[in-house]
Amino acid sequence: MSVGLQVNASLKAMNAFGVEARAAFLAQVSQESDLAAVLGDPRVAGQPRLVLGGGTNVLFVADFPGLVLHVRIPGLQAAGQTEDSWLFEVGAGMDWHQTVQSLLQAGYPGLENLALIPGTVGAAPVQNVGAYGLELAERLHSVRAWDCRQQAVVQMAPEQCEFGYRDSVFKRKYRDGRIIVSVTLALPKLWRPVLGYAELDRELKARSDEEPSAAAIFDAVCAIRRRKLPDPVQLGNAGSFFKNPVVSRERRTELIGRFPSLVSYALPGGRFKLAAGWLIEACGMKGVSRGRAAVYDRQALVLVNRGGASGREILDLAREVQERVADKFGVLLEPEAVIV
Ligand SMILES: Cc1cc2nc3c(=O)[nH]c(=O)nc-3n(C[C@H](O)[C@H](O)[C@H](O)COP(=O)(O)OP(=O)(O)OC[C@H]3O[C@@H](n4cnc5c(N)ncnc54)[C@H](O)[C@@H]3O)c2cc1C
Repeated sequence: MSVGLQVNASLKAMNAFGVEARAAFLAQVSQESDLAAVLGDPRVAGQPRLVLGGGTNVLFVADFPGLVLHVRIPGLQAAGQTEDSWLFEVGAGMDWHQTVQSLLQAGYPGLENLALIPGTVGAAPVQNVGAYGLELAERLHSVRAWDCRQQAVVQMAPEQCEFGYRDSVFKRKYRDGRIIVSVTLALPKLWRPVLGYAELDRELKARSDEEPSAAAIFDAVCAIRRRKLPDPVQLGNAGSFFKNPVVSRERRTELIGRFPSLVSYALPGGRFKLAAGWLIEACGMKGVSRGRAAVYDRQALVLVNRGGASGREILDLAREVQERVADKFGVLLEPEAVIV
């Protein structure tokens, strides 16, 4: 059986930066069985592979010389329960935000802090999506993925996903080697709000909401995000382009000595996360344009395509930001976005 393979296909509409790049081969994967079929096609045997969901966390800096698998597998169904959670299996191609919203509306809260993160459900475990005090890892039961070497679907428990801050085994050992086909979410039977993230707490307080419901948190998160982050449909971007760097207590003390207003957050284990946006802003880079690429003027952590930028232009700007931050603070900013 063969799945339609497009040759020399444009990826412009499939990446949130909206940059032009072409794939030597492109396959639309709408069901699990498409994977075996397309990967067994002799035209793509031995070719490099790239898995793509919504393209909201990738920057294409060149054409892709192999096979792009655009994962669009649908489905959302109840999958039983554990002692403390309701389980839902969701197809990898489902829209993340719509899934969060549908489950909440159906009476299953627990993901509201992660509202309005763009992209697909299948990509959410890849960087362990997180926002406003919650990470996917805290709501995950298991992942089903196609293993390209074994040529079979494997089920993975959270421990096997090796989750970290914006990190998982899918970014490292299994990069493009395991293709996530569905994600089983575990939503708490005994829901409690996840509060304590300053910006969210402030927003809820401004709404005089002392004991917010899940729906109120959902609304507050959406409101903050709409104010702060550009909509990729209007202004190409991939959200936070860099991760917040993590440093030792000694390093943070030394930096605070030189830069008293440095913004940082304590992590369990005595290390500190530095606010990368603050570092970039302190280098005078907020709002700076280089050709058609720019550092967003409302949030320095976001790089934007002002219209017609190439991936290279955006990457050059990212490198300049990295150099400026390294020169001033001696800190390396690692990209969060996947550079292809
Ligand atoms: C405005 C904006 C705001 C954002 N805010 C946040 C935020 O608050 N928190 C956060 O964590 N992220 C955020 N992001 C980043 C992005 O939304 C997430 O990383 C999201 O999970 C990416 O989903 P996607 O389907 O677009 O993945 P893609 O961009 O298509 O892919 C991202 C990576 O995942 C891999 N991948 C995709 N699908 C699969 C699959 N089925 N199996 C295996 N690998 C796969 C790709 O190969 C690639 O390496 C933001 C992005 C934007 C544009």
